[in-house]
Amino acid sequence: MPYNTSTKILATIGPATASKDVLSRLIDAGADAFRFNFSHGTHAEHKTRYEIVRELSKQKNRHITIVADLQGPKLRVGHFENGNITLQAGQTFMFDLSPTAGNEKRVNLPHPEIFEAVQTGDKLLLNDGNIVLEVLSKDKTHIETKVLIGGVLSDHKGVNLPNITLNISALTAKDKEDLDFALSLGVDWISLSFVQKAQDVKDAKEIIKDRALIISKLEKPSAIEELDDIIALSDAVMVARGDLGVECPLQTVPTIQKKIISACRKQAKPVIVATQMLESMIESPSPTRAEVSDVATAVYDMADTVMLSAETAVGKYPIEAVDMMHRIIEEVEHDANFVEATFLNEMHACCTQSQGITYAAKELSEVLPHVAAIVTFTVSGFTTFSMSKERPNLPIVAITPNHYVANRMGIVWGVHAFVDEKIFESFEMVEEIALKAVNSLNYGTKGDYIITTAGYPLGQKLTTNMLHTVQIP
Ligand code: PGA
Ligand code: MN
Repeated sequence: MPYNTSTKILATIGPATASKDVLSRLIDAGADAFRFNFSHGTHAEHKTRYEIVRELSKQKNRHITIVADLQGPKLRVGHFENGNITLQAGQTFMFDLSPTAGNEKRVNLPHPEIFEAVQTGDKLLLNDGNIVLEVLSKDKTHIETKVLIGGVLSDHKGVNLPNITLNISALTAKDKEDLDFALSLGVDWISLSFVQKAQDVKDAKEIIKDRALIISKLEKPSAIEELDDIIALSDAVMVARGDLGVECPLQTVPTIQKKIISACRKQAKPVIVATQMLESMIESPSPTRAEVSDVATAVYDMADTVMLSAETAVGKYPIEAVDMMHRIIEEVEHDANFVEATFLNEMHACCTQSQGITYAAKELSEVLPHVAAIVTFTVSGFTTFSMSKERPNLPIVAITPNHYVANRMGIVWGVHAFVDEKIFESFEMVEEIALKAVNSLNYGTKGDYIITTAGYPLGQKLTTNMLHTVQIP
C-alpha cells in the first residue's frame, strides 16, 4: 500500500487483535504503530505479540513502531466481601490501610501516600469519576469521607485525586519489572502513565537511558501546570483523555488538547491524541458522527498520531476501526483548509542552524515546482522530528543507518523511514541513496525534485547544515 496519509495511527493490541492474521490486516488497514498495554496481559503474551509484529514488519517491508505503555501509579481500592457495594449520597464511608475485605462502611486503600497528601474538603473520584466523595477528616491510617454522588463500587476500582500531587514515583515496582522486560524485547517507545511532574520524566530517563524514547502521558492537572518542562524532557507526549477527563472538568478536555498540541509543536515533539476516539465501534461496525468529528478535529489540530484503545484491544470491529480512522485522516488531509493551515505554519522568531535549514527546506518545497519528497538524513532521528514539525505538504523520508531510529517513526507525522547503512560514506552516496529511497517508496516521477537535508560532513552527529536538491533522472 502506498503511503497516502501523514497523520499516524497507533492501535492498542489486546485479545481481539493478538493473532498474526488480525495484526497483518490492521497494518494493511493503516496502523503505523502498536501499543502494548502493560496494565493487561502477561509478559509471555506481550513477547509473542512483539515477535509477530516484528516479523510482519519484515514481511511487509514497513517500519512498524512498538510502544510499551506502563500502567504507572494507577490508584485502586481493595476488594469487598461480596464483590461490590452500593454507596448512597449523604452517607459516610471510610478508607483505611487494612487489607481485609471491605463492606458498606469501609474499604482498603493500599496507598499510604494518599493518607499523607489529602486534606479535609478534597474530592476523591472513584470508578472513572462516577462516584464522588469528599474528605471529612483524616489521620495517617484513615480517611473519613462523605458520599456526594453515590453508585456501585466493585473490587479494585480506580481512584482519582484531581489537584493533588502525591509523593509517589511515576514508576511503581510493577512498572520497573515491566520496563525491564519491555526494554529486553527491544520496544521503540516507553509511555509513562500519570506523570505528575517533570522530575518523573527525568527519573524514568535515568533508567531507560537511550534504550527507548519516552512518551509522557498527560492525564493529571499537575502535569498540565508543568507542561513546557515535561515536554522538554520527553521525546513525545500523549493527550490521555481517559484519565484527564476524570481528573479535570470534562468540558476542559478539548481546550487542554489544543493547548498540549500547540505546546508540543513549539518544541517539535510528536503528540498523540488518545482515548474514546471511535468508542462506539467496540460494539458497532460504524462510529457515531460525533466520533468521526473528534478524529477529524485531532487531525485539524495537527496531532501527529491518533490512537485506538479498547476499539482494537477488545472491540468487535478492530479492522473496521483502523480503516475508518484512516479514511477520516485521508479526507481531512485532502481538505483545502487543512493544506492551507500547513502553509500558515508559524516560523520561530529565533532559531538554530538546524531549524533554519529545516524551515528553508519546507519553504523551498513550496516554491519549487514538482517536488516529490523531502529527504532527511538522520543518525538520531531528531532532525526528522523537526522536519515533521514544519508540516510540509509532501512526504518526508527519514534515511538512517539505524533500524531502531527507523522503527521510532511510526508515531511521527508524515515520516516514512528507510534504512541504509552506507549513507555516510560519501557525498555522492547522499544523492544515490535519496533517489533509491524515494523510488522504493514510490514517490515522484522522472524530472521531479527531491529536497535533502543533512549534517555535513556526514555521520558525525552534527547539526543539520546542508540543503540540497536533486532531480529524479
Ligand atoms: P490508559 O491511558 O488507556 O492507559 O488509561 C490513556 C488515557 O487515560 O486516556
Ligand atoms: Mn490513563
